[in-house]
Amino acid sequence: MPHITETPIEYLKGVGPQRAEILRNELGVFTFNDLLVYYPFRYVDKSKFYKINEIKSDLAYVQIKGFIDKIELVGEKRIVRMTARFRDETGSIELIWFNGFKWLKDKFNPLQQYVIFGKPTFFKGKYNIAHPEVELPSDEDAKIVFNLQAFYNSTEKLKSRGLDSRGISKLQAALLPVLQGKIVETLSEEIIQNLRLVSRELALINIHFPASQEMLQKAQLRLKFEELFFLQLKLLKLKLVRISKSRGNKFSIVGEYLNDFYQNHLPFTLTNAQKRVIKEIRSDVGSDKQMNRLLQGDVGSGKTIVAMMCMLIALDNGYQSCIVAPTEILALQHYNNISRLLGNMNINVQVLTGSSKTAHRKKLHEQLMNGELHILIGTHAVLEEKVQFKNLGFVVIDEQHRFGVAQRASLWKKSETPPHVLVMTATPIPRTLAMTLYGDLDISVIDELPPGRKAIKTLHFYDSDRLRVFGFMRKQIQERRQIYVVYPLIKESETLDLKFLMDGYDSIVREFPLPEYAVSIVHGQMKSKDKDYEMQRFVRGETDIMVATTVIEVGVDVPNASVMIIENAERFGLSQLHQLRGRVGRGADQSYCILMTSHKQTTDAKKRIDIMVRTNDGFEIAEEDLRIRGPGDIEGTEQSGILDLKITDLVRDEKLVHYARKVAIETLEKDPNLELPENAPIARHIVELYKDKINWSRIS
Ligand code: ADP
Ligand code: MG
Repeated sequence: MPHITETPIEYLKGVGPQRAEILRNELGVFTFNDLLVYYPFRYVDKSKFYKINEIKSDLAYVQIKGFIDKIELVGEKRIVRMTARFRDETGSIELIWFNGFKWLKDKFNPLQQYVIFGKPTFFKGKYNIAHPEVELPSDEDAKIVFNLQAFYNSTEKLKSRGLDSRGISKLQAALLPVLQGKIVETLSEEIIQNLRLVSRELALINIHFPASQEMLQKAQLRLKFEELFFLQLKLLKLKLVRISKSRGNKFSIVGEYLNDFYQNHLPFTLTNAQKRVIKEIRSDVGSDKQMNRLLQGDVGSGKTIVAMMCMLIALDNGYQSCIVAPTEILALQHYNNISRLLGNMNINVQVLTGSSKTAHRKKLHEQLMNGELHILIGTHAVLEEKVQFKNLGFVVIDEQHRFGVAQRASLWKKSETPPHVLVMTATPIPRTLAMTLYGDLDISVIDELPPGRKAIKTLHFYDSDRLRVFGFMRKQIQERRQIYVVYPLIKESETLDLKFLMDGYDSIVREFPLPEYAVSIVHGQMKSKDKDYEMQRFVRGETDIMVATTVIEVGVDVPNASVMIIENAERFGLSQLHQLRGRVGRGADQSYCILMTSHKQTTDAKKRIDIMVRTNDGFEIAEEDLRIRGPGDIEGTEQSGILDLKITDLVRDEKLVHYARKVAIETLEKDPNLELPENAPIARHIVELYKDKINWSRIS
């Protein structure tokens, strides 16, 4: 018999079939349990009432008692907003609504006292509150049971059925007594004792109806820990399964190729961080386990050479390698660099992209199958099924932590024993996130830049300062430096993008005319042959300025380029800005990053610009990014399960993430299959969590 928590939501008192349908569609709430774990997003001390003259900008929310009058509908042809005056004995503020007028406008009685609740905003010298919650002061005010009132996210559809935050709270109030005594514990007695956690039942009651601030904290701690603990168990389990299942190709020797390269061809001394990472990788590939490693290193930290030397180890052991790059430009660049580095070493390196000609492909396929081809560099074209290797031993995935499970799987099919995989990324991921996002991978970090690099100077200019910027550009070009000018790329409107870019290009060509200056242009709608031609002209130093969209965002390496100008910088995310900035600062010259914005910017955009001006440290930027945006918007999080986190805040709860991982490791060390009787609650909950979702052995 299904557990009572599995009861369909429509059977809860106060729900019924129609509300059930909306709950299912809008919130994914199908069962009692789904509602139970629909947690509030905030709590408000409802015992506190403010006076209007106490309002300050830094108050997130205020609750005020007062009267509503002077209702006005604003707009000429069409009503665009409704305003009202709200006053108490200390003053008045404006309430604003941007929709729902029809329903609202006759609702308020000027003689009636109301309680409003909302976020005050300071605008044009006055405070207002947009879309306040409005209630009649109830008798309950006098004898509030729960000072801390929970607030739930709701939607327009839910609200239209009376399921605003308050409505949802009522459902929770109906649900909890039904489940009392029936909420099953999910953690072992030992963990509960050691961490002094409250029981699951007590936590769930208090998360919805906190008896006190203290109980709320205990409830949150308990539920956050539980959430993180089970996520870490899953990730660790995946890793164990992968290690135990997938035997890897053992690269037992370091031979001629690597030694020859190291002694005769390496153009610089490796940094200590590069040496350490190569050692880490060697120890992985030298065992008979398959490697799955993430290599993080800030832009310019020198990941390519590390990858290349590992491919030489593969070659020493008789295996082929390949590099998968995100764009054609990058694939070609890798190809050129690696061919140059390997010089006359007699290693067969080839490149395969979407635009490779059929005849060339045919030859490549042949050479891959008979083993003549040693290193294949390409775009996603490499993953296609018809590309088969004789014995693929080592795969490098460059600059894309978005590389999904399905794509990884397509690599497995290319050889009997799965190849070792090195995923490289220059978008630093905060440690907390990495532990969660890539909890099933091993992580190496290059945390040191090659010597002699000068820190890039980052400056912010408004569009109105453009003439000064042009002057600066001229000076740099006189000193034989090269310059990037990058325009944003908005997926929704490619034509608009192109217009932006072309307008910018025209104005730059006017400012920097031939024959004195030469300007390149690269954008997404050019043929890849033309893109490459333009790119190569810039690489060879034949052009001074490269006007481009973000196609150059990742990886492109032109050491003589020392200025990066980012137009409409307010429209880029932090990690993108940092990536773009990383295109300069690769040579010995002082480099500059110039962020151009209009005067109008959102608060978040201002923050991003400030952070960029303040620091060059990719990890610090990544932490800030996580703080501003939350994990949901950070690339790579989609398929990781961390978006399913209901209650944990990866930034604020960083310590707990580490802690939960530690406890999860200890638990699995003692009881890898969770068979001990004391771990039965954990094992049971895992079955519950993943019964129709994931098979732990499916992913690798
Ligand atoms: P990224 O980690 O961003 O992919 P690259 O591998 O493209 O960085 O390296 C950036 C530049 O630094 C390249 O021009 C590369 O040749 C150079 N480089 C790499 N390692 C060293 C080193 N140890 N000393 C000096 N230059 C290096
Ligand atoms: Mg790179």
